[in-house]
Amino acid sequence: MTQLNETHDPSLTSWVLSANEVSCDFPIQNLPFAVFRRRESDEKFRGGVAIGNQIVDLSAAQRSGVFSDLAERAAQACSQTTLNEYMKMGTTAWSALRLALSRALREGAEAQNKLKNCLVPQADVEFTVPCKIGDYTDFYTSIHHATTVGSLFRPDNPLLPNYKWVPIGYHGRASSIGISGQNFRRPMGQTKAPDALEPNLGPCKRLDYELEVGIYIGSGNDMGEPISIDNAEEHVFGLCLFNDWSARDIQAWEYQPLGPFLSKSFASTVSPWIITTEALAPFRSAWTRDSEDPQPLPYLDSEKNRAKGAYDIQLEVLLESEKMRSENTPAVKLSESSFIYSYWTVGQMVAHHTINGCNLEPGDFLGSGTQSGPNHKEAGSLLELSMGGKQPLTLQNGETRTFLQDGDAIIMRGRCEKEGVKAIGFGEVVGTVLPAKE
Ligand code: CA
Repeated sequence: MTQLNETHDPSLTSWVLSANEVSCDFPIQNLPFAVFRRRESDEKFRGGVAIGNQIVDLSAAQRSGVFSDLAERAAQACSQTTLNEYMKMGTTAWSALRLALSRALREGAEAQNKLKNCLVPQADVEFTVPCKIGDYTDFYTSIHHATTVGSLFRPDNPLLPNYKWVPIGYHGRASSIGISGQNFRRPMGQTKAPDALEPNLGPCKRLDYELEVGIYIGSGNDMGEPISIDNAEEHVFGLCLFNDWSARDIQAWEYQPLGPFLSKSFASTVSPWIITTEALAPFRSAWTRDSEDPQPLPYLDSEKNRAKGAYDIQLEVLLESEKMRSENTPAVKLSESSFIYSYWTVGQMVAHHTINGCNLEPGDFLGSGTQSGPNHKEAGSLLELSMGGKQPLTLQNGETRTFLQDGDAIIMRGRCEKEGVKAIGFGEVVGTVLPAKE
């Protein structure tokens, strides 16, 4: 696990003045990665790092000669249209570029003269999915979500007996993962009302979001060579916000016996910025397993994982309806939660994923599963907030929701705050529901 170093020093400030504002998600202690180009241009997409309201264009920065040695080679890898090659380089290269960027962006840095010409305002760019995602695996690590949803689908048997032993997951669809700003059609699908004799085809009536943390794999493992829990973190490049849209009525009809299929594969949205594991180092915290619960099998347990395995990331979900947009009223908050409630850690997910010899590859993506907290108001989906559609939510402007309506935009945000540490943020992920194509 990354040790704290000079790049985490809370007293550091940048010559990019917007980075020094207290509420800024991207101070010099963060330095997250994205792939971008100027909006509506025919420029090549390339890697960039956020600083304040600007982006360091890593292709331009590399050409400007501000980096040397390993940091220079790392910046070169980031000049490509995807970050896969950089992600593959591993922790030493990631740290070298982070340190070089931190030194070059500090107040008083000599590199300012060269680097100031490599900045692009975030307001002027469009983003794309930052790497080629070969495979996407969706976990189910919130026991609060699993218990509530289980009780809706199976009132007599909410939490299946394997849950406390196995980090449950399934193989998701990578091709329909889109970048923040994604608009997608309400999915069509087979559904069957409980009292109906036969299913029918129609637009999803119970469309939902899932508040998740996305996990990008950096360096992978060879087939047949599991990653041990103590090395797992070295294979994780960073985290993002992830909205894993779900069609609950399609899911209810199709999910047994093999799990979700078309209810999950029509769209999933990632935030543009990947917050690196190194940037998140100050926000690691102890992971505990209730003494009443089964303790993890040895391959899922380690001192390191217990001491610092969890991430303290505050998460929130907001909804902006078509009415709010037309009346120019702000989006309303639906819930707040934290990644700290996760029953399984990122290290456990990686160790479990590879224990059978499965090879993870640079750019592979893991969803954490919906991150619901222990209280009802901390639920990470409408399915939970509306008690399976039985209790509509009344929004501040008088509108009500059980599930999403056409035109609804869902906005998710994440932020890490801790005493004595410079706060960092994840930016946001936004996606909008369009009418079904019937
Ligand atoms: Ca999910």
